[in-house]
Amino acid sequence: MVNIVWFRRDFRLHDNTALWHAAKASGEGAVQPVFVFDDEILRHPDTGGAVVSFMLGCLESLREAFAASGVSMRFLHGPPSEQLPLFANAMGARAVYFNKDYHPAAIARDDEVTLALSRAGVEVRSFKDQVIYEERELLAASTGEAYTVYTPYARAWRAKLAAERDAQAGPKLWDAPKLRPFNVEPTLIRGLKLVDLYTTADLGFDPPPALSVPRGEAAARAMLRRWCSGPIKDYAQSRNFPADEDGTSKVSAHLRHGTLSPRQCVRAAMYVRGKSTAFSDGADKWIGELIWREFYQQILFNFPSVVDQPFKAKLANLKWRTDAADFQRWCDGMTGFPIVDAAMRQLNATGWMHNRLRMIVAMFLTKDLRIDYKLGERYFMQRLIDGETAQNNGGWQWSSSTGTDAQPYFRIFNPTSQSRKFDENGTFIRRWLPELSDVPLEFIHEPSAMTPEQQRANQCIIGRDYPVPVVDHQQARLETLAMFKE
Ligand SMILES: Cc1cc2nc3c(=O)[nH]c(=O)nc-3n(C[C@H](O)[C@H](O)[C@H](O)COP(=O)(O)OP(=O)(O)OC[C@H]3O[C@@H](n4cnc5c(N)ncnc54)[C@H](O)[C@@H]3O)c2cc1C
Repeated sequence: MVNIVWFRRDFRLHDNTALWHAAKASGEGAVQPVFVFDDEILRHPDTGGAVVSFMLGCLESLREAFAASGVSMRFLHGPPSEQLPLFANAMGARAVYFNKDYHPAAIARDDEVTLALSRAGVEVRSFKDQVIYEERELLAASTGEAYTVYTPYARAWRAKLAAERDAQAGPKLWDAPKLRPFNVEPTLIRGLKLVDLYTTADLGFDPPPALSVPRGEAAARAMLRRWCSGPIKDYAQSRNFPADEDGTSKVSAHLRHGTLSPRQCVRAAMYVRGKSTAFSDGADKWIGELIWREFYQQILFNFPSVVDQPFKAKLANLKWRTDAADFQRWCDGMTGFPIVDAAMRQLNATGWMHNRLRMIVAMFLTKDLRIDYKLGERYFMQRLIDGETAQNNGGWQWSSSTGTDAQPYFRIFNPTSQSRKFDENGTFIRRWLPELSDVPLEFIHEPSAMTPEQQRANQCIIGRDYPVPVVDHQQARLETLAMFKE
């Protein structure tokens, strides 16, 4: 009898917990991989062309990787709780294996699927895979409750990993399991909707004009190898400078879609840290960012209300401004603040944005334009290839001062000072704002400070070639402070 592996956001053969266990339990390793196109997710307003197009590329690679072992991956379309029992029946399968997901909607769906499969007499096995420590594995010793502050969480996370390093390696998961060729046609059963792997257009989405990160497991592994063999060394310094193409790893979309596992990342970083002291600061800092990812995953699991409410409940009634025109200017990268506009245009064009810029634009939307973080959060989800509720919601609630361990409300980034500090030579700005290409360095962070003569001389008339700043930062700052105080 075959075991089905239901892939959802773990599109890799190596170090894949559910796949490994399914192959092992199948003796000779006969597994039937399947992916279900679920309209609940596809039609959700958070789902955008960037994430879908990245996912489809990863699925294509996964299908090819299985085909190379003689295994046919199958695709279904419909509610998983309906399609999976039918498929299990059509394949004569004994069990369905999958890796856990901590989004509240995914937990509800998985409960429903588990019930439906159990009713159909099919065993269900689910595994921790997308994080190193899940759910309530790490709790604050003083309260016995989930951590809500990063620093003590990270300390506990590192201590646990150090204590369990061998256990953490798991059952030889590092490799891909040996797979037996398996290409059995499912029996035709009424209601079972077998489909081909869709394209982005089939699903009615537009991908971003240019994807910034290559898709699929092989590309992900190559990126991790390259990152850990060199650039990671300087990460502690380079991570804040968006013009530096090698300043960060850009593996976020691979962690999002599971073409890399967090274990692979942490092990690779620990390996280079152990090998050379030159790598230790960078590798250590990078592991710290992977811990931020885990921190937000456990926040989402333990405080699922963050999906639609501020973590700080008393801030649920902040009087955000409603201004569709200003919001649109922000979305389009037309605010008149070059660092904000360059960042938004990078996002719109490539589906990715540097972390420093995510903080700057999120703070600009919420503290300069005083627009509800939920609008920005949704826009990010619709545009990012790595869009993921836990980190995105965590990042937005941090920036808008409504979340766990958030930036205090009175500490408001000045977008122009941030720009001078983190894009000193205006390299990043010039890359994304061609209309500012002749503007001298002196004015690149604040072109509206040019006199009319300087604008003419530098071929950039403010209000014609580049927007007038949409707000006065100092004034907006005072209004935001007043809003929070109220
Ligand atoms: C407003 C806002 C929204 C964000 N939305 C997302 C999102 O939807 N998906 C997402 O993966 N990250 C999100 N982040 C976190 C971070 O910006 C990205 O993970 C990072 O820019 C990805 O680039 P990288 O892979 O080169 O990161 P690196 O700097 O190389 O870091 C390695 C990995 O650590 C994790 N990581 C890094 N920084 C953070 C962080 N601040 N919080 C949580 N995890 C982190 C990511 O998985 C990342 O791939 C958001 C941050 C903010 C401020």
